[in-house]
Formats: sequence, structure tokens, C-alpha cells
Amino acid sequence: MTMTDRIVRLHEEMTRIRRDIHAHPELGFEERRTAELVAKELAACGCEVVRNVGKTGVVGTLRAGKGARAIGLRADMDALPIREANTFAHRSQHEGRMHACGHDGHTTMLLGAAKYLAETRSFDGVVHFIFQPAEEGLGGARAMIEDGLFERFPCEAVFGMHNRPGLPVGSFAVRSGPMMAGGAFFDIQVTGRGAHGARPEKSVDSVLVAAHIAVALQAIVARNAPPAETAVLSVTKIHGGDAYNVIPQSAQLSGTVRAFSRDVMSLIEQNLKRTATHVAQAFGAQAETDFRFIFAPTVNDTKEAEFAARVCAELVGKDNVERNPPLIMASEDFSFMLEKVPGCYFNIGNGSGEGSCDVHNPAYDFNDEALPLGASVLARIVETRLAK
Ligand SMILES: [Zn+2]
Ligand SMILES: [Zn+2]
Repeated sequence: MTMTDRIVRLHEEMTRIRRDIHAHPELGFEERRTAELVAKELAACGCEVVRNVGKTGVVGTLRAGKGARAIGLRADMDALPIREANTFAHRSQHEGRMHACGHDGHTTMLLGAAKYLAETRSFDGVVHFIFQPAEEGLGGARAMIEDGLFERFPCEAVFGMHNRPGLPVGSFAVRSGPMMAGGAFFDIQVTGRGAHGARPEKSVDSVLVAAHIAVALQAIVARNAPPAETAVLSVTKIHGGDAYNVIPQSAQLSGTVRAFSRDVMSLIEQNLKRTATHVAQAFGAQAETDFRFIFAPTVNDTKEAEFAARVCAELVGKDNVERNPPLIMASEDFSFMLEKVPGCYFNIGNGSGEGSCDVHNPAYDFNDEALPLGASVLARIVETRLAK
């Protein structure tokens, strides 16, 4: 029986598991049912299982042969605070929570690969199956790393995969180097002097200062960041004042920054703080900036990306592997694992054309047809990298 035959046999079982997880979505760091399901499935197929790595994370370990080399495969388990619009039988049973990013599929594909590799032991070495909590902005990858993930489960390389709507099922997309942006949030508190709306001479107008800061910040990407680097700075909130006839004492600006390297991100941070402080000072006001780095840029190791692309091509043919697709401005917290261990994050097609719905949309669903392909590519990464 070929590898793909075995995994196709697992298709039905994976579909059942995927739909069960979809029906029971849990938010970041609340993935107790999901983690329990994952731990049970891993233990049932003969993996060593460690629970509560980074709160609700789970790691399964499988050994074969005498080899000591180890690699890590990672999936995310959390859902989103979205009210599901779908009406199919496996729709969310948890009001206001939904697997709208396909992490139910990612978890299932990794379980499928674990089951297959546990049955065949078709490799020589160690595989760590890393099931991460809280990818959607709550810091699950960092929590696992701070809990000693790579000291307790050392890996020479780590691989992860996200579904991509719009890419046909049976296709993969692999990019070398930077792939997804790092992200930060910022808040600027402007303090002036409140006064009657008809007596501006008595005020330091915080609304006018906030407006000048919002405009001045747009010079940072345009004038301070190197033109060959891609970056975004968006002011997304301006709040100030409650009345027609009151110049408010204070105003707030908030927004987000995206960039593909930590250097560009900190260059923007420095310029943002300086601009806000000094524009405010020019008007006689004060500005305090809080800049919070949320996601590191996702940067694939060139060699590991070539390797992953080759494995994908062996599975689905070179023509079905999109090499070096455009940069993605969204962020992904697998980036923090890639900062510790070289590896590659890549995309698996979730289907294109009619019925293809974007992630984070209330009508989204992971495409079960992708399950055997995803499980196969993860298993092939292990079989190729840790060949007998
Ligand atoms: Zn998401
Ligand atoms: Zn996601």
C-alpha cells in the first residue's frame, strides 16, 4: 500500500475528527476539550504525550529507529469570537465562537500525519507534534516557548502550514525568506488644555494636535523606512471630545504597524514616538506613546523553504506548487517559533472559485478534501528529512 493510499484510508476518520472539532470551537487558552481530544488521539496511536505546555498546548513525540535527529511539526488549535453563519450539521455548538480560520483542519491534518507515522514508523529519528493554543493574537506560540518548548523538545527544524482560500485544493504555496508581516499596535495619549469651544485662545487643542500627529505619522513609512522595504502604518482610531462647544483636554490615537523585519519595526517605533512627542510639544501639548509588539515577522529559512517546496512538489507536482507568492500583510505567531528554530511556514489550498470563502468570515469552513493532502505532506516532510 502506498503512503497516499494509507492516508486516504484515514480520510474518513480525519473528516469525522475535523467536524467534531469544528462543532466545538474554543478560544485561545481555553482549548481544554480540543487539547484533551488531541492528547487522547496521540496516546491511542502510541505517541508519548505531554499536556499543558504553554497552558493548553500539547506535544506528542514519536520515535523510530536509532536516530537522534528531531524535527517539529506544528498546528494551531484555537477558534475565533465569531458567530457562525453556516447551517450544516457540524456548525458551531458554542454560541459566538467559530473555527473561522481553519485551525480545526490544521489540528486534524497533524493528527492524521501522527497516526500514519505511528503505524508505519517509516523514518529514523524523533518527531515532535506540537499542538499550539491561542494563535489568534493571545500569544500561544510565545507561551509554549517560554514554557521551554525547544529545550524540552529540541528540534533541528520546525514546519507549520495554514490553509489558504483561493488556492485550489491540491496546491501548495511556499515562500523563501520573509512571508508574513510582523505586527504591532500603538496608542498615543495627547494631553492639551480644555476650554470653551468659542475661546480657543484659552486652550491647547488636543483634537488639532491629534490631527497633526495623524498626518505627520504618514511621513514615517514614506520618508524614514527604506523604500525597498514593505511597511504599513495605519491610524485606525481617533477619539476626542464629547460636546460641540468644548475643546477637550485630551485625545487618543491608535493604530497598527506591519513590517517584514524586526529592524524596520523598531525604526518605525522610534520615529513614531519621536514624531508624536515633538508634534505635540510644538503645539504646547504632551503626547505619550504606548507601542506594543504583538507578532514577529514570519521569516522562512531559505534552505528549509526549498526543502518544503521539494516535498510538496513530489506530492502534487511542480506545477501545483506556487513558489514565492506575494508577501502577506497579515501576521502569524508561528513566527516566534521560526525565530528560535529554522523552518518553513507554507500554505495549503483550501479551494478556489465559487463557494470559496475567506478566513475570519462567518461563512468560512475548512475544506475536508485538503485533509489527506495536508497529512501526507507533513508525513513526507518527516520521511524525507529523517529517511531510514
Ligand atoms: Zn486567523
Ligand atoms: Zn489561522
